[in-house]
Amino acid sequence: MPDNTPVLSLVVPCYNEAANLAQLFTRIAATLAPLGLDYEVICVNDGSRDHTLAQLIEQHQQDPRIKVINFSRNFGKEIALTAGIDHSQGRAVIPLDADLQDPPELIPEMVSRWQEGFDVVYATRRTRTQETWIKRITAQGFYRVMAWLSDTPIPANTGDFRLLDRAVVNVLKQLPERNRFMKGLFSWVGFRQTVIHYDRPGRLQGESSWNYWRLWNFALDGIVGFSVKPLKIWLYVGLLISLLALIYAGALVFRTLIYGRDIPGYASLMVAILFLGGIQLLTLGIMGEYLGRIYAEVKGRPLYIIRDAYGFAPHSINQFD
Ligand code: UDP
Ligand code: MG
Repeated sequence: MPDNTPVLSLVVPCYNEAANLAQLFTRIAATLAPLGLDYEVICVNDGSRDHTLAQLIEQHQQDPRIKVINFSRNFGKEIALTAGIDHSQGRAVIPLDADLQDPPELIPEMVSRWQEGFDVVYATRRTRTQETWIKRITAQGFYRVMAWLSDTPIPANTGDFRLLDRAVVNVLKQLPERNRFMKGLFSWVGFRQTVIHYDRPGRLQGESSWNYWRLWNFALDGIVGFSVKPLKIWLYVGLLISLLALIYAGALVFRTLIYGRDIPGYASLMVAILFLGGIQLLTLGIMGEYLGRIYAEVKGRPLYIIRDAYGFAPHSINQFD
């Protein structure tokens, strides 16, 4: 292994984070210096509309261990993470939010668990006290549904903040899918995993870029990416409804034979039509969710487009050369 290979790679997706970067790098440097390990910080500018890029370049000029990948537009956090991980060189990789919600002070503990022999050390938050009750309830609901549907256990209350050994990273880099629900992928690969707990602070500056619509779509990505149960359940719902319909039809025939014909029945007709119509549309919608993702996979477009990069070896980054 060449001497300039860092031990740790921190991967930081940045979207409009100009206000947080100075403190982020100060805290990273202060935490990592005592460890005496070589490290690199790969910052992925995900189409920010503020001064994030200029600040990142300035930081890179002061400290060449800070490297910058600049996307051609906003691709979303999961993809920014993927790009950073793709271009990392460390023997362990740690994805980290730029807003300091993933405190860098946890890194030494992660590193020591890694040195004990674990391949993945993920950080689970102890409390969610900083958040509104709606966020807490929806998050809890999401993890419940996920646990029930998914074949891969995905640890609850755990973000992307974790340490990944190079062996794990190499496997992740082989995964071809475009639907990158990273915490699902992190769990899916397996390996020796362990957990540490922490209290997640609020955002340092600025606002979360995840509104509920975006979170809902994120949740759909997770569910559809890691389970086909939503497709299969309709077989059983359909069977059950057909069975009930058959019994009801039998009862109707029987009743008509005994009591003769009767006209009323508008209410039950309407209920049956609306109920079945609703279920059919829902099923179609769910199929659409999968179909749309299959379409995205089949198109096989590159996951991200890098406009330029700072601090990488020549030709290590030109994806369209
Ligand atoms: N982020 C990104 N691209 C986006 C949205 C967010 O790279 O389109 C980054 C953002 O800069 C931050 C991390 O992803 O480093 C988490 O974002 P945020 O703090 O908005 O999410 P939350 O902490 O509320 O989940
Ligand atoms: Mg945040």
